Amino acid sequence: MTSCVALVKCENYNQKDVDSAISEVLSNVGGIKKYVKKGNRVLLKVNLLAPANSEDAVTTHPSMVRAMIRQIKKAGGIPHVGDCSGFEGQKNRKKYLAICQKAGISKVCKEEGAVIAHLSSESSEVTNKNGRAFKRFTVSKEVIESDVLISMPKLKTHGLTIFTGAIKNNFGCIPGLGKAKMHLRAPEAEIFAQMLVDLAGVVKPDLVVMDAVVGMEGAGPRNGKPKHIGAIIAGKDSVAVDAVASKIIGMNPFMIATTRMADKQGLGVGDIKKIKIIGEPIKKMCVKGFEFKKAPSSFFRAHFFLRFVRDLFLAKPVLVANNCKSCMTCVNHCPAGAISKKGVIVFDYKKCIRCYCCQELCPHNAIELKTPLIGKLIS
Ligand code: SF4
Ligand code: SF4
Repeated sequence: MTSCVALVKCENYNQKDVDSAISEVLSNVGGIKKYVKKGNRVLLKVNLLAPANSEDAVTTHPSMVRAMIRQIKKAGGIPHVGDCSGFEGQKNRKKYLAICQKAGISKVCKEEGAVIAHLSSESSEVTNKNGRAFKRFTVSKEVIESDVLISMPKLKTHGLTIFTGAIKNNFGCIPGLGKAKMHLRAPEAEIFAQMLVDLAGVVKPDLVVMDAVVGMEGAGPRNGKPKHIGAIIAGKDSVAVDAVASKIIGMNPFMIATTRMADKQGLGVGDIKKIKIIGEPIKKMCVKGFEFKKAPSSFFRAHFFLRFVRDLFLAKPVLVANNCKSCMTCVNHCPAGAISKKGVIVFDYKKCIRCYCCQELCPHNAIELKTPLIGKLIS
């Protein structure tokens, strides 16, 4: 099995440059008309994790979204743009629209005539009979009912999965608190990765166009630093797109559990030697010194599930009290109910399942992941 991935240079988000890079990357994967036919309802599944300005590198950049909307319209499709934001928590259209506004997505949709889709609004049950650990998912109806699904992830680091790209972007197709429930059912990194891979068996984008012009390093996916990468990566195979993306930022693709598992289960190609790159040579696009927040060892996550061992080895969320603004986001989103406010924010580590949603969603960079010394030494 081999796969093709298109890789083009795009140094900045100037609309003209992005339009031209998107046109090139699409032509390298066969042209937009290969995917979008006249009258098709096309969902651009972007990353709208939390309210953030486009230059913070938290969300898919609006110039990328604008360029894709233009391409879809040119092919005669009807563009819809959306996500189910983790920050939204329970279905909350007002909160969701505020996130779209801040990320520059509302403006782009209004100016280009695209529909803002609220992925949390309605959902359906879907079954993956081949799922290894998870066979049933609640998925947004917008996703199910679209004629064409185009995933537009943002390349970022992630506390639990090390890296977030195409396969992780599908998680935003699970509405509202359904995501928190999945975290509870899949508390360990390996099982969480398996859940994402099982989800990839039912949410299958027709195309992935990854925003890697400016990615996020360090404490991603919310509180890391923007890092210039200068690339747009596209392909039909989500696993191969993720493999190329992780290679560019200096990571062996098989260190990413979702890539390794999805490759093994035949959902795509994660072996870089079996991926045909169309466009820029991958070596030319690699960035040096990309900073990862060292993830807790998946070995220990997978094999030492006893609580006392977990406490010895795994990173735990800790409060950076000076940054905390008592906004209660972490309290309201913790799937395990492990955070409370007793004057200050307090973690109950007995209840904490180490999903790191609190670190992901804190708007003020007030939660850090701290690995105990013994865990650092061993991992
Ligand atoms: S830690 Fe972050 S999310 Fe939690 S209350 Fe403080 S600022 Fe809000
Ligand atoms: S405290 Fe943070 S890491 Fe622990 S379960 Fe709650 S959200 Fe997840």
